[in-house]
Amino acid sequence: MDLVPATLAQVVAALDRRYPPSGAQAWDSVGLITGDPDQLVRRVLFAVDPVAAVVDEALARGVDLVVTHHPLFLRPVHSVAATTFKGAVVHRLVRAGVALYNAHTNADAAAGGVADALAEAIGLVETVPLVAAPGEALDKHVVFVPVEAAGRLVDALSAVGAGALGEYRRCAWTTTGEGTFVPSDQAHPAVGHTGEVASVVEARVEMVAPRSLRSAVLAALRAAHPYEEPAFDVLELAASPGGTGLGRVGRLPAPMRLDAFARQVAAALPVTAQGIRYAGDPGLAVRRVAVLGGSGDGEFDAVRAAGVDAYVTSDLRHHPASEARERALFDGRGLPALVDTAHFASEWPWLPRAAEALRADLAATGTSVDTHVSILCTDPWTARVEGPGPSGGPL
Ligand SMILES: [Zn+2]
Repeated sequence: MDLVPATLAQVVAALDRRYPPSGAQAWDSVGLITGDPDQLVRRVLFAVDPVAAVVDEALARGVDLVVTHHPLFLRPVHSVAATTFKGAVVHRLVRAGVALYNAHTNADAAAGGVADALAEAIGLVETVPLVAAPGEALDKHVVFVPVEAAGRLVDALSAVGAGALGEYRRCAWTTTGEGTFVPSDQAHPAVGHTGEVASVVEARVEMVAPRSLRSAVLAALRAAHPYEEPAFDVLELAASPGGTGLGRVGRLPAPMRLDAFARQVAAALPVTAQGIRYAGDPGLAVRRVAVLGGSGDGEFDAVRAAGVDAYVTSDLRHHPASEARERALFDGRGLPALVDTAHFASEWPWLPRAAEALRADLAATGTSVDTHVSILCTDPWTARVEGPGPSGGPL
């Protein structure tokens, strides 16, 4: 089948839909780093890190776009001259007409992102966010309207996005009561007469809508309502946890020993010099597990609150890990056990999933790209040695 190439702008739009930039942490940097939105994209390379070896691979494969998890620039720079190692990356990509895009903490949080990919790779099911991001901010619009106009009002509000609940649209709740008012001398009442008490059988229509649509919903309400001065309330609904967020918590289909679980994690992730380290009784029964791709030692409070048997993450430093283990042993149950992977390894499982999702998203718009997932190991650690240790020292 012939490829119908997408523009870079179309590819970026598809990626931004999967991994909304609004889901990124405030300190993060995500999105397009090099590239012209009008250029065509035929081949895309997915990698964890925008390092020189990945640029080598991009140029060798003749791709038009590199999608990485990690940003090239997270802190401000004053130069992208080719005399700096990051400037050289920019120059080589731009000279070859290769765009660079990154989805970092927005990809961590998103459904089908880094956390979901890691959880699935190591065998977890029934996963929920470890630290849920707040769900979409919602309003409830309550409108009082003559009964015969209620259907039209619901149609009008639905047309601008109100009343959407998951796979259902035009959702509304209606009750009937009596409204009363006295039009002034200056009024132009649709019902009743100036200076006289009017009583009308009215419907109370309730519909939810994203807060971001408030202006559009109110404009549609005023346009569709037969009254000169519609009566309505806009209620801001309390925030509820959303389905995305940092890390995931799930369960293994059947309990397994910690040592066997660590081997299962090792088998699911790319090989690195570090391998997999764990802390805990090898015979501990592991069923409920938390995962967080990348550096996870800032989330021990959430992990403890989740009541898991094991926590799989990366970059566990001595002090947070030591204190977590001391606390676990002091509490008597030794939970959670810790399973520490190389940072690169915990994030790589997202790449094939992201490539497949991009192909599907573009196919749905009538365009197509070839994708390639890098199998270069860009973990900075290249080797590990074990010595006999000093005589008389700990073994
Ligand atoms: Zn990372």
